[in-house]
Amino acid sequence: MTPSLVELVCHRCQNRLARRNDALECPRCASTYPVDDGIVDFSEGRYYDDFPGPEVLSAANLAGLANEKEAARIEDYYLPRLEAIAERLGTPGCRMRVLDSGCGNGEAVAVLVGRGLDAWGHDLSALRKWQWRESPVRDRLVVADGVSLPFPAGSFDAVLASGVLEHIGVEEHGGETYSVRPLPDRDASRRRFIAELARVLSPGGSLFLDFPNGAFPFDFWHGTTPGGARYHSPREGFLPRFEEVRSLCRSIDERLNVEARSPRGRLRFRQVSAHWYGRAFRAPMMALQRLMSTRVFSFLAGSPLNPYLVLEVRRRPS
Ligand SMILES: [Zn+2]
Repeated sequence: MTPSLVELVCHRCQNRLARRNDALECPRCASTYPVDDGIVDFSEGRYYDDFPGPEVLSAANLAGLANEKEAARIEDYYLPRLEAIAERLGTPGCRMRVLDSGCGNGEAVAVLVGRGLDAWGHDLSALRKWQWRESPVRDRLVVADGVSLPFPAGSFDAVLASGVLEHIGVEEHGGETYSVRPLPDRDASRRRFIAELARVLSPGGSLFLDFPNGAFPFDFWHGTTPGGARYHSPREGFLPRFEEVRSLCRSIDERLNVEARSPRGRLRFRQVSAHWYGRAFRAPMMALQRLMSTRVFSFLAGSPLNPYLVLEVRRRPS
């Protein structure tokens, strides 16, 4: 693998780190971060999940993990967008630096690295850390919280956060039924997360946030069956809406500009198509996505008609 241009720093004080045995050490604040199987762990033991070891995984859990198709969103959707950004930045021959925030199993990072990009991923999960130990790109995967990243400001030309923002600042319960409720500090938590992603973004770079649209009444991504439709009230307080994200971004930095992009290519309705409504819904949804991809109807991408938001955040030059 080509060495990365991105440098890891202390997530607490942004100082350079020094290697000491099986750890990285911050000479300024004396924090120590273990390196296991090449994976640097900045969690300080505070993971968002509780994963003591693989013995707790059922056959169904293992099948679910094996079925994750994290590479598809890169191959089908983000690669052409990243190419367009590279062209816009006008740095031919330079490797584009990309961060996949909340990267899950790390497959997307492996695809990006395989395409010659300088890609990194982070997640705050003990389960993912265990999964990553066999990844060919494990030294590009770091255990870290999205509100305190171990990268200097301006490190990435593109930052992707797919299906992450909605899970911040809410309490979810799975199992037989699915339930979710917002926590009192939801907006403050989401704001801190977006602000941190914007911090590591280079001056001309793009941040992509994608998630099911809170203004669309059905959610096909969070429920008890894969692709099952979950009706939700507009006051549920879980899935973000375009206007919410726009006002959070404005409160962080007035120069942050948010635009909704057509999810065409991002959504294939593979799992939804297992249900009758999914089959009925697929053709009109595909047509709508094509429409949103045209200049005239691009405004539909941020509207309640679109089930899945893809938002591109860029900093306007001051
Ligand atoms: Zn430090």
